[in-house]
Amino acid sequence: MSGEEIVYEIEKIFPNAQCELYHESTFQLLIAVVLSAQTTDASVNKVTPALFTRYPDPFSLAKADLEDVEGYIRTIGLYHSKAKNIIALSKDLVEKFDGVVPSTYKELQSLAGVGRKTANVVRSVAFDIPSFAVDTHVDRVSKRLGLAKVDDSVEKVEEKLKRKIPRALWNQAHHDFIFFGRYFCTARHPKCQECPFTSFCQNEKLERYKALKKKKKEME
Ligand code: SF4
Repeated sequence: MSGEEIVYEIEKIFPNAQCELYHESTFQLLIAVVLSAQTTDASVNKVTPALFTRYPDPFSLAKADLEDVEGYIRTIGLYHSKAKNIIALSKDLVEKFDGVVPSTYKELQSLAGVGRKTANVVRSVAFDIPSFAVDTHVDRVSKRLGLAKVDDSVEKVEEKLKRKIPRALWNQAHHDFIFFGRYFCTARHPKCQECPFTSFCQNEKLERYKALKKKKKEME
C-alpha cells in the first residue's frame, strides 16, 4: 500500500483528525506545543485555559514571575524547565520579533524550547505551510506501517514520510497519523483485529528491535 493509500485508509477511520491542543492564537499554539513535550495533549489542555487567561500573549508572559507560571502548569511533566522556557520564549518573541510568532524554521528554532517538531506543528497548523511533525505517535505508526525502518531517527522518519506521501497531504496526514496512533494503533494495545493494515504491519519486527535495544542498554 502506498503512503497516499495509507493516509486515505486512516481517514476512513478518522475523517476529522485535527490539532487537539487548545489555543486561540498562534502564540498560544506555540506555547501549548512546547508544553506538550513528553506529556499528553489532554493534560496540557487542562492547564492552558487558565494560563492563557492570565497570560494571553507574549508581552504578558515575558514579564511573568517564574513561580506564578509554575503554579499554572505544575500538573504536567517537566513543569519547571517548561515554565522557564515559555517565559524565555516570550521574551525572545517580544525582543526579536515584536511579539509576532515567525514562520521560518530558522526563526522558530531560535526561540527557547522550540525544536524541529514544535516548529513543524506551528508551521503546519498556524501557517498552513506543508510540514510533517514527527512525534511519538507518528514515529511509531510510520514504523509499524513500514513507511520507515525500525531504527530510523526522527529526522529520517520525517524525510521518508515527505518522500512517500504527496506534499499536498502532509498537513492533514500528520493529524491522521496522530489520531491513528493515539486512538487505534496505540503503543501497548493496538486494535490489530480491526486494522486494515495487518497484512504488511511491521509491529513484531519493531517490538523485537526495541527488546534488543533495551537488552543492549541494560548490558552497558
Ligand atoms: S496491525 Fe496493529 S500494530 Fe499494526 S498498524 Fe494495525 S493496529 Fe497498528
